Amino acid sequence: MTETLHTLVIGGGQAGVATSAHLQKQGIPHLVLERDRIAERWRTWRWDSLVANGPAWHDRFPEAEFEDLDPDAFAGKEAVADYFQRFASDLNLPIRTGVEVTRLERHGDVFHVTTSQGAITARNVVVATGPFQHPVIPTVITDPAITQLHSSRYRNPGALPEGAVLVVGAGSSGAQIAEELVRAGRRVYLSVGPHDRPPRRYRGKDFVWWLGKLGKWDMKAPTPGTEHITIAVSGAYGGHTMDFRRLAGLGVTLLGRAGAYGNGVLEIADDLRTNVENGDRNYLSVLDEADAYATAQGLDLPEDPMARSLLPLPECVTRPTLALDLKAAGITTVIWATGFRLDFGWIDLDIFQPDGRPRHRDGVSEVPGLYFVGLPWLSCRGSAFIWGAWKDAERLAGLIAER
Ligand SMILES: Cc1cc2nc3c(=O)[nH]c(=O)nc-3n(C[C@H](O)[C@H](O)[C@H](O)COP(=O)(O)OP(=O)(O)OC[C@H]3O[C@@H](n4cnc5c(N)ncnc54)[C@H](O)[C@@H]3O)c2cc1C
Repeated sequence: MTETLHTLVIGGGQAGVATSAHLQKQGIPHLVLERDRIAERWRTWRWDSLVANGPAWHDRFPEAEFEDLDPDAFAGKEAVADYFQRFASDLNLPIRTGVEVTRLERHGDVFHVTTSQGAITARNVVVATGPFQHPVIPTVITDPAITQLHSSRYRNPGALPEGAVLVVGAGSSGAQIAEELVRAGRRVYLSVGPHDRPPRRYRGKDFVWWLGKLGKWDMKAPTPGTEHITIAVSGAYGGHTMDFRRLAGLGVTLLGRAGAYGNGVLEIADDLRTNVENGDRNYLSVLDEADAYATAQGLDLPEDPMARSLLPLPECVTRPTLALDLKAAGITTVIWATGFRLDFGWIDLDIFQPDGRPRHRDGVSEVPGLYFVGLPWLSCRGSAFIWGAWKDAERLAGLIAER
């Protein structure tokens, strides 16, 4: 039996839930298929202590607040997942869980969808399967004595073997995991690549507020040359600026980018100082832009001169390690905080770029009736974040209604 639908949404994370809410508002009959549970990735793909990177007033859908949470606090990952679950059930959204879509094809002007529970045809399909689908693990370290895991599989310090830990990648995940481990008394090495590190708060306002005022969430595309720069922020411990000098002060040994591995030794690029100083430049540029904005708008915000005083560069930066003997360093675990890749292998349509990203304009693909939501930079910088997916979903639901 083939089920016939007007619109099918694939994926029941925040992007799928947001899309369903907007389709419902438009009165469009639809179904969401989710292979696990609603917002599963917030539950089982994140470490135990993870909190949202933005405060609760910001990292949410505009129409629903977090229950029992100070708006300036950072919601824990289970609270975030519960929030989406509750939002979906309050609206009675048509989400069917435990059903995986394994193939998407198009015959004539109708989509044919194969699922783990039968076939579906639909006039419109919205793909909301997430920006972070498969962990990327560079397979450079071949020593079987070393436990290696991706940041999405890290849970807590106690779950790792005894010994020192090398964390590769210092975006929000790597930097936060390194801090948790060093605070738990572990010896920690952290490989730091190019990054942005906005101030957590400045002149009494959180950086998410500043990025909004400065128009940075609405940016249409990354500044050329910055496409691969990760952003290091943290809501952990009440929220603080991710400062690699401070991490070094806590005992983390900072390293440049990890390179080739051989005979037990990991080559380390001589780029640590550049990466740290460029991160500082980014940090200071946000302060400058914030000050200019405050002056231009005549905002009465408290001055914050201390924000500009940086700690001295630690010795691990001024005299960097360029070859790391893992055994000599006592490293028993490597955590790859090296990101994710997309996987649309189940979509049988010629709409993909060589790097696997779909060709689309603000989420509207080249195939009539096929849409994407929740991907990084879908329509703007905010697109993969909670409220950004909400805004994109609203626009796409409007286009589906017009169609
Ligand atoms: C460590 C980490 C922390 C983050 N913190 C924040 C934060 O604080 N604030 C913020 O705004 N953003 C944050 N993000 C970014 C983003 O909000 C999350 O990645 C979020 O999970 C993306 O939501 P989504 O709905 O687009 O995708 P996902 O949450 O990945 O949801 C996609 C869903 O689709 C399902 N699915 C996939 N393929 C199929 C299929 N073939 N058939 C059926 N179902 C399928 C999956 O099971 C999944 O539930 C974070 C990301 C990471 C990795």
